[in-house]
Amino acid sequence: MSTKIWLSSPHMGGTELKYIHEAFDTNWVAPLGPNVNGFEEDLASYLNQEVYVAALSAGTAALHLALIECGVSHGDEVICQSMTFSASANPIAYQGATPVFVDSEPETWNICPIALEEAIQDRIAKGKTPKAIIAVHLYGMPYQVDQVHAVAEKYNIPVIEDAAEALGSTYKGQAAGTFGKFGALSFNGNKIITTSGGGALVCQTKASKDRTVFLATQARDHAPHYQHSEIGFNYRMSNITAGIGRGQMEVLDQRVEARRAMNQFYHNLFADIDGVTVFSEPSPDFYSNHWLSAILIDPVLAGVTREDLRLAFLADDIESRPLWKPMHMQPVFADSPYYGGNVAEQLFENGLCLPSGSNLSDEDRERIEAKVKAVFGK
Ligand SMILES: *Cc1c(COP(=O)(O)O)cnc(C)c1O
Repeated sequence: MSTKIWLSSPHMGGTELKYIHEAFDTNWVAPLGPNVNGFEEDLASYLNQEVYVAALSAGTAALHLALIECGVSHGDEVICQSMTFSASANPIAYQGATPVFVDSEPETWNICPIALEEAIQDRIAKGKTPKAIIAVHLYGMPYQVDQVHAVAEKYNIPVIEDAAEALGSTYKGQAAGTFGKFGALSFNGNKIITTSGGGALVCQTKASKDRTVFLATQARDHAPHYQHSEIGFNYRMSNITAGIGRGQMEVLDQRVEARRAMNQFYHNLFADIDGVTVFSEPSPDFYSNHWLSAILIDPVLAGVTREDLRLAFLADDIESRPLWKPMHMQPVFADSPYYGGNVAEQLFENGLCLPSGSNLSDEDRERIEAKVKAVFGK
């Protein structure tokens, strides 16, 4: 019996337990402690910019606090890339605000700068300037940073980068997560590195990091007793979890290399299969961690649909998954405005994410290759 090949599964490096043992030995099992500070410093130095990182309980929590710090509240509007995971958009609803969804452009599959500007102009004409823009680096591919930020600056709207999938990716050599007013990272179980569950908010100033930590630890005022002037959250990362993160940071470069090698494997595999394109960096400005490798299948040219391939993989216990279903097509967001055409819809229709883990073996790749060749009659 062959074992299941996962889309993306946790891959420990080996030193994670050392940090956890340290936490036990020094009785830093309580939340906060040296691993949290250490993990934050590791992340800030990896991102290689003057940024301040707050370790949190989840990427979703990071996005939520970023929205709060951008002043988003009840009745506001926030622009969000439609082609993404629901966690990009849910925190907008937590604030009682309305998401305004925007289509993708075909090169990076991320927010289209032209549709973004149309959306902003139309929302302003209708009476509300959007309070923030959530742009996503989907599957690790940086969005069109220069163009998107030029539009945001023109209308003076802060950008929150959803870099949950993009730790290790760069645009023109600068790390994803460091371009916006805030950048959200995730260390969920399936991400490029994991703490089993966790996230971080990348902040541009020390003051905004301090504010993030304050809000994430129940918003306690300075007083000997428990005193609160604001609503707080329990969103901080624990010292045990951060220990896993410190171990994972030691192998992050290797993880990026391995995911990029998987992407190259798919390039080679599909090179002479008509009607299949592997998701690729549009120019040398873009460097993707290739968290997930994905393909688009033109069913007419290929004679195969993405669903044919997905089911064939499934029969052999190989996990693959359609791309994110765009938010403007989700029942829960049916009432939200949407701007753009059908790029995201087409991507959803024809796209498939393929096994991309850094821990896949040669044997796994042989099984994938054999299946692909059988399905496409090669
Ligand atoms: C994983 C993910 C998140 C949420 O991160 P969690 O740590 O799971 O809360 C947000 N946005 C995107 C695009 C993601 O892939």
